[in-house]
Amino acid sequence: PLVEKTGIGGRQTTLHTGIMNYARFLTAVSAARKPSPIRILNMFTRNSDRVFLPKFELALIFSVPTCTKLKLQQRSPPSLISLAGGAPNPNTFPFLSASIEVRNGETVTFSEAAMKRALQYSASNGIPELLTWMKSLQKKLHNPPTANYSPENGQMEMCVTTGSQEGLCKVFEMLVNPGDNVLLDAPTYSGTLAALQPLGCNLINVPSDQHGIIPAALKEVLSRWDPLEVHRPGSTAPKILYTIPNGGNPTGASMTAQRKKEVYELAQQYDMLIIEDDPYYFLQFNKPWAPTFLSMDTDGRIIRTDSFSKILSSGLRIGFVTGPKLLVDRVVLHIQASTMHTSTFTQLMVSQLLHSWGQEGFLQHIDRVIEFYRTQRDAMISSADKWLKDVAEWHTPTAGMFLWIKIKGIADTQQLIMERALEKEVLLVPGGVFMINSSDPCPYVRAAFSLSTPEQIDEAFRRLSALIKEAL
Ligand code: PMP
Repeated sequence: PLVEKTGIGGRQTTLHTGIMNYARFLTAVSAARKPSPIRILNMFTRNSDRVFLPKFELALIFSVPTCTKLKLQQRSPPSLISLAGGAPNPNTFPFLSASIEVRNGETVTFSEAAMKRALQYSASNGIPELLTWMKSLQKKLHNPPTANYSPENGQMEMCVTTGSQEGLCKVFEMLVNPGDNVLLDAPTYSGTLAALQPLGCNLINVPSDQHGIIPAALKEVLSRWDPLEVHRPGSTAPKILYTIPNGGNPTGASMTAQRKKEVYELAQQYDMLIIEDDPYYFLQFNKPWAPTFLSMDTDGRIIRTDSFSKILSSGLRIGFVTGPKLLVDRVVLHIQASTMHTSTFTQLMVSQLLHSWGQEGFLQHIDRVIEFYRTQRDAMISSADKWLKDVAEWHTPTAGMFLWIKIKGIADTQQLIMERALEKEVLLVPGGVFMINSSDPCPYVRAAFSLSTPEQIDEAFRRLSALIKEAL
């Protein structure tokens, strides 16, 4: 009822599909979000942006009869004089034009007109040309069943976020109430813990190994609840499961297709949403790449976060949320009320390059990036074999940029790393920071093979080996 009263445009908003009732997943904060009338007006009157304004959004400002009488569609009439916009005049901005050299010899250019657009406010869900390009790639790579659904039935939608971190934070705010039980496979990304823990939820660990979540272990965790009772008011059954399916941070683990299938079936049985946080998807060293949760999403229960941070630039801050439209729309309302949108300039810069490359060019670029990380991974593994065999254990990662090293005979690496490693001039991350309870003893360290040269990696492991032997 809460959701229906506060639906977009003050209208009764359906949050049900044939399969899913999304209303049961939303926090009160997310359900209470409303679109900003000013942003809608601005979008409507900015002729240069080919924005898509659903009629119900226009109806928030202009009454439904007005929309019908004036045949107001998604674009404003060309002769309309707008005094409504609150956007600053870009003629007063100091930046005029730009030309950015690309490694392969191409140039990304911003004419004066393009620069004016790049420096201006833009749509909260992302600039249309980047969204269209990315949707098409998403369909090619994952072929999600939901791409062919109607919007009311959980059709796939996307929005641009300021890095996938923004997407994750906003998805958690949309779905997690204080006291909720939330499932994840720890050790996990410390940024996820930082976003989730302040929400006051109980994080429940699902045992995993180098192939990701162990379905039998998930089944065991879920056996505390009766699947027939999860919709009962007051049920404490978890509603979301978070996982990093490829090149896990920090574990380097990658989940097999079979495991994903079993985990998806359990999510169906217990009516859970799965948050598939996949920034290392494009850094999978072996082809064919494993099918994603999104690719098996017949119900509309997957929310996927993608990132350009590891493949195009981490500083441009471009990420994406993909999921059922009814939920992605709520993320966009949160963006509208916080950052308003991801930088128009960085979106246009990336979008220009992607359009010039096409999907083929993009995937060729990815292959070059993969080649770099594979070589780095191999260098790290051979140095680990050389220096750490007697004192540590690890699994060779098949994706990402991390090696998760278990130090034998040391119960907790916190002291070893924080206090003594620096003296030996080698730095790694102690495993505890990736645990649900960071004070629990953890015998692991995380080593990244992204920035150091093979020579530096070799020397670092020589120093680590000496340090461990001393400590033992
Ligand atoms: N998820 C995981 C698992 C990560 O490792 C990272 C980056 N370290 C992020 C999300 C956030 O990445 P970004 O915001 O740069 O896309």
